[in-house]
Amino acid sequence: MTRLLHSDAPCCYAVVMSQSSKREKMLIIGSGPAGWSCAIYAARANLEPLCYEGAITEENRLRGTLPLGQLNWTTDVENYAGFPDGIMGPDLMLKMREQAEKVGTKIVTEDIVSIDLSKRPFVAMGSDGNQIIAETVVIATGASANYLGLPSEEKYKNHGVSACAVCDGALPRFRNVPIVVVGGGDSACEEANYLSKFASTVYLVHRRDTLRASRIMADRTLANPKVSPVWDSAVDEVIGNEQTGVTQVRTKNLKTGEMRTLDVTGMFVAIGHTPNTRFLNGQLETDEKGFLKLKDSFRTTTNIEGIFAAGDVADSIYKQAITAAGMGCKAALDAERWLAAQGIH
Ligand code: NAP
Repeated sequence: MTRLLHSDAPCCYAVVMSQSSKREKMLIIGSGPAGWSCAIYAARANLEPLCYEGAITEENRLRGTLPLGQLNWTTDVENYAGFPDGIMGPDLMLKMREQAEKVGTKIVTEDIVSIDLSKRPFVAMGSDGNQIIAETVVIATGASANYLGLPSEEKYKNHGVSACAVCDGALPRFRNVPIVVVGGGDSACEEANYLSKFASTVYLVHRRDTLRASRIMADRTLANPKVSPVWDSAVDEVIGNEQTGVTQVRTKNLKTGEMRTLDVTGMFVAIGHTPNTRFLNGQLETDEKGFLKLKDSFRTTTNIEGIFAAGDVADSIYKQAITAAGMGCKAALDAERWLAAQGIH
């Protein structure tokens, strides 16, 4: 595992080493809005939650699973209630973390690499080698960016191919040159607008002729003079060389079959996300897209008693910071009631 320096991360994480193994009332896995909201409610209910916020490693950077979740990699957040002038994503996440810590959350800057859900109390293993024994677990691990799956895309990851404009967009290779953004949702529009600050042209390659993004985001993107949509098209191949990385992206018009070669130095993929559930090793029920299934859609209960899920890892529909935060609150309350019913205080 390649540990990153704090300076490689988008904001200053306070790294906390894990504690000695003891029986925890609540283990929270994940540190996005769901994880921190859950932690705040649980800590205020005297559950002394232990939050594994994720490790700061190169692997997690590439997977998009660094601490503080997806908002930590975004810029202005204009739709989180309470901030009439908007707030920067990393600022919002740091404030949530600070608040959770202030009310008594124990935070460990490591991953949970495996967990045994076959019996209670549950036993998890941290990437630091520590074993955590917990009466309840809240899974709030979010979701990570998808890629197209082309071999040429894989070849040029970190050499012009990225799934995070905020992480990589300001690099010299993307300045004053044309680049490609793939996708038609809010993420693609957000990335295209952000990258237009650096690139000379942003080709927005989308497989249909209308954007899926919200109206306000779509209108803003299409009105951006630097954004040039490439409709009804899919990326056929990423072209480049060892020395300079990406030099071109070839697209195919899905209606006409016409091929087009765009001279670009980069390609940003923004085509949705996959829930981060690998460490669960199939122990919890998921839907067909891999999102954790809630036993009752109004609650955060899963198919295993004592295990709760909150945020994007269990939400294939809304996937908003504020809905994740709401789910985190519900998970804390659900877990608190469940613990009380078990006689654990
Ligand atoms: P999304 O809404 O699922 O959009 C994914 C886009 O990628 C779609 O346009 C889809 O095309 C395209 N796509 C998917 N698989 C593809 C493939 N294999 N090849 C080519 N294109 C592919 O995902 P998202 O944009 O990441 O947004 C996820 C959620 O987060 C949404 O609820 C969104 O509202 C929210 N979000 C909000 C904000 C904000 O409010 N500031 C910012 C970012 C995200 P089709 O349209 O043809 O399906």
